[in-house]
Amino acid sequence: MAYDDQNIFARILRGELPAIKVYEDDQVLAFMDIMPQAEGHTLVIPKTPAISLLDLPAEAAAYTIQVTQKIARAIEKALGVDGIILMQLSGVPAGQTVPHVHFHLIPTNVHHLGKHAAQMGDQEKIKAQAEKIKAALES
Ligand code: AMP
Repeated sequence: MAYDDQNIFARILRGELPAIKVYEDDQVLAFMDIMPQAEGHTLVIPKTPAISLLDLPAEAAAYTIQVTQKIARAIEKALGVDGIILMQLSGVPAGQTVPHVHFHLIPTNVHHLGKHAAQMGDQEKIKAQAEKIKAALES
């Protein structure tokens, strides 16, 4: 399958769609999930156009996981949570809904998870969580 450069995350990367960003550098973007499965649900994406982890070049994968670890620490510090689920769905059969590789950071217990990507979150609440995570990254 060819990479679709009109997918939602590609459009966010180009600035064509809004996102509540918590971190960005020249290789990676981290932003809040619009339909959070728990408070502080954050997505980390490489800027490399890849559909899934399986077609992401190893160096980009390595760097993205390093940033994911950094964001996880900031979420823990900012929101006072213990325990974060790292989820990565590769392929539609696995349940992937956006065809640009991404790592979910979901601060919850897996047994508390409801339906995946099913309910729009309170955007103001999400923005407030993003501000806390950004502050934790800077401290
Ligand atoms: P997946 O099903 O693993 O591909 O996850 C895609 C995730 O992207 C879901 O958790 C959605 O809630 C999230 N999502 C979809 N559109 C947006 C958007 N515009 N901004 C932020 N998150 C989004």
